[in-house]
Amino acid sequence: MASGSHYRSPSALLRELGITEPEDIRIEAIAEYCNATIIYEPLKGSAARILGFGDRAFITVDSQSRRGRQRFSAGHELGHWMLDRGRVASFMCQEQVFASEWGSDNPERRANRYATELLLPDFMFTPRAKDQRIIFETVRQLATAFQTSLTATAIRLVELGSFPSIIVCHTAQHRRWFIRNSDVPDAIRLRDKPGAWTVANDLLRGGTSSEGPTDVQADGWITHPDSRNYTLCEDSIRLGDHWILSLLWWKNEKQLLDLEEDHDF
Ligand SMILES: [Zn+2]
Repeated sequence: MASGSHYRSPSALLRELGITEPEDIRIEAIAEYCNATIIYEPLKGSAARILGFGDRAFITVDSQSRRGRQRFSAGHELGHWMLDRGRVASFMCQEQVFASEWGSDNPERRANRYATELLLPDFMFTPRAKDQRIIFETVRQLATAFQTSLTATAIRLVELGSFPSIIVCHTAQHRRWFIRNSDVPDAIRLRDKPGAWTVANDLLRGGTSSEGPTDVQADGWITHPDSRNYTLCEDSIRLGDHWILSLLWWKNEKQLLDLEEDHDF
């Protein structure tokens, strides 16, 4: 069997190792198979780092962070080892790249994607997400099953779930990134900032309690001129000190169906 440190995609690794269930995705064993040893130590100023020399790498993960975060950090560093070797010998990755780097293409985003596809593989995730509501309660259940972080799991639920939805990450100043399910048409565009009557707006203004899934007027989120005539289900949470993560779900798909009709001349 081939092993060692040459590039392998997440799905190739899982296949080679015969892994078919979430509880068998043991990141330490998978990394070891790729000549990367994972070490847990208290870290200051970064969530994880990797040092590679020649064919060997050592990944250090902050022993003080939560298990889901540790696994994601380790998968992220393994992604650097697989994707970026030869160009860089070491990475130190801040906690915030795991929340912020999902938008534009760069080595951090590619490492995040690698971790996501390794820890939340399509063929395991899709059947478990089927017909599940696009809310954080579902995300938490799936994050427990896969032992993954909330952000990565929520992104997967939007991408691979059964219903049209968008996940958006905001700070008080900016929209950092968003990811849409392929059933959401391009005519649906997000506003730069959530509107006054959204849960996210309340959280961004320092509101402390999330209300859970809430039906809001679609124009709070969407620029399309007819949006005020429709509703969508918003579930927003605070993530760390600076981020607001929002799941937008067209539980009532009327807006999307009407848009489709507009284009069916
Ligand atoms: Zn990184």
